[in-house]
Amino acid sequence: MSRDTVGEFIAATAGLSAEAILAWAAKQFGPRIAFASSLGAEDQVLTDMIARASLPIAVFTIDTGRLPRETHDVLEATRRRCGLEIEALLPAAADIEPLVSRHGPDFFLHSVEDRKLCCHVRKVLPLRRRLAGLDAWITGLRREQALTRADVAPVQWDAANGLVKINPLADWTRQQVWDYLHAHDVPYNALHDRGYPSIGCAPCTRAVAPGEDIRAGRWWWERPEQKECGLHVVDGKLMRTRKEPSK
Ligand code: SF4
Repeated sequence: MSRDTVGEFIAATAGLSAEAILAWAAKQFGPRIAFASSLGAEDQVLTDMIARASLPIAVFTIDTGRLPRETHDVLEATRRRCGLEIEALLPAAADIEPLVSRHGPDFFLHSVEDRKLCCHVRKVLPLRRRLAGLDAWITGLRREQALTRADVAPVQWDAANGLVKINPLADWTRQQVWDYLHAHDVPYNALHDRGYPSIGCAPCTRAVAPGEDIRAGRWWWERPEQKECGLHVVDGKLMRTRKEPSK
């Protein structure tokens, strides 16, 4: 798999619905494809589509060890409802234990660098380990969330990880996401109803006020340009979110 082959994939998926893109991806890349779910609203849509169509796509989530109770609740509800095995990727003990032993469980509060180190060890490294054996991965990214809007496409080359990245909801609006969840009675994180449009680790996420940037509640003590965790990189740039109405 290389950047050169992505053009034909883009042509093959032009104009397809999200469900059709998932079906195409399963056929094109299976079994070397997986869906990375953060259990957020968009990801719940994709998990539901995968389960409904019984697509042979592995679903995994990164359990950083600091997730809110509500995220574990929606994980359990999703496992029960969809009958899916959702792989849990945990940080390697050899990576996180020395940091916590030396600097304490909340060392990420000490500096931006320490916060990024915590995200790197708890999120990025487990993701990289999982992606290493794949030809493609699926995410719930939407174009209207990203500052680098032009870079979010239904199918694109992920140069940072060396594989194809598929974003079936790239063209969806926030309203479409919530319409789907309600229409299909899909479980979603209870924190969304308490002012949390974007949900990460418990100590690094808080509710936002109506109209506030959807990422305002993530690492709120940092400047906006510092708010990223390193999971999504396009052409060497970290993807961040743009202002969008909260639910
Ligand atoms: Fe660590 Fe906070 Fe990043 Fe979670 S969001 S990995 S607790 S710094």
